[in-house]
Amino acid sequence: MEKVVYVDNNATTAVAPEVFEAMKPFLTERYGNPSSMHVFGGSIYKEIEKARESVADILGANETSEIIFTSCGTESDNTAIIGTLRSYPDKKHIITTKVEHPAVFNLCKYLEATGYRVTYLNVDGEGMIDLNELQGVIDNDTAIISIMYANNETGVIFPIEEIAEIARLRGAVLHTDAVQAVGKIPFRLTQLPLDFLSLSGHKLHGPKGVGAIYVRKGTKFTPFLIGGHQENSRRGGTENVASIIGLGLACQLAKKAMEKEMTAVRKLRDKLENAILEKIPHTRVNGNKEKRLPNTSNIGFEFVEGESILLKLDEKGIAASSGSACTSGSLTPSHVLRAMGIPFTFVQGSIRFSLSRYNSEKDIDYIVKCMPAMIEKLREISPYGKKGGLSV
Ligand code: PLP
Repeated sequence: MEKVVYVDNNATTAVAPEVFEAMKPFLTERYGNPSSMHVFGGSIYKEIEKARESVADILGANETSEIIFTSCGTESDNTAIIGTLRSYPDKKHIITTKVEHPAVFNLCKYLEATGYRVTYLNVDGEGMIDLNELQGVIDNDTAIISIMYANNETGVIFPIEEIAEIARLRGAVLHTDAVQAVGKIPFRLTQLPLDFLSLSGHKLHGPKGVGAIYVRKGTKFTPFLIGGHQENSRRGGTENVASIIGLGLACQLAKKAMEKEMTAVRKLRDKLENAILEKIPHTRVNGNKEKRLPNTSNIGFEFVEGESILLKLDEKGIAASSGSACTSGSLTPSHVLRAMGIPFTFVQGSIRFSLSRYNSEKDIDYIVKCMPAMIEKLREISPYGKKGGLSV
């Protein structure tokens, strides 16, 4: 395959070479089961505990026992929400937002269909929630508030400290889906009074198919996957050892280099964004530009269809996205951008560029070189375009 300029890191990231190397022995000679009595298997348990320390460390958690390994971010989200509903069977109200990832959003829709009451908080034009609306909807029936830390499509960061304060004062359980935030911005959970936090390995240069959930000590917890005694009887199922080791090292690497890497990534992102806005007319940034992940830029190209931009980018070897990986492939416009009230002519033509430590100036220059002519051509033939006359 020819070289790809990969700017779709919110969909998934490359496994760091160091992570791959660290995982290998656990897929070959060290294949024992960590629950076994013999040393061959049992010694692996210690390696899992080291990985747990690394996850606790990147989150700034108090204790390693607050970390439970799961199979993915989606499982962590399900564990927090369904587990809490099981812990508080008399409470039937859930609060979330209109811009969650399907891992939370579709779960809430499912729960709504089975009899729960769900409040989906609105967002403004910049993708921000209104804390007064949150204050107004919490009641004694609220079992859990689940609000993402950072949005996967726009990178917009929610004010979780303030949300946590409101939840704490009202005695509500708080979960945050931090799948897009961990590894990109610092965390100090000792200072942040939330109950559950979800993360996923493949968003921070770890492997796919592994995640973790932070459960604050003292939080009521009911397992989601019921089975063996693994993870202190909080998550049944033989551990995905190699991937857990990989996740642990990915967290270590991300924490160690975060400041330097994210400063560089932000610089590249801003360069890309500014150049596109400058060189291509009828473009806009979707979402609050300040309170945003350093790697994400969601740009609306008016009068053109996102899918056709993606195809043209793909022809040039540029991998980007029109939104969440779980909804791209369908032509339904992004629920996130629609909730923000972005004009239809922009929503249709919005592209997410999400960078990582492996992007370079060259990548950005190449994208900036390709895009202006590409967009101009597409606008000439697009049914949404000026020439097509549908939306002008
Ligand atoms: N939550 C957010 C915000 C995400 O971006 C994703 C993945 O795109 C997930 C949850 C799901 O994570 P996983 O793919 O590990 O299930």
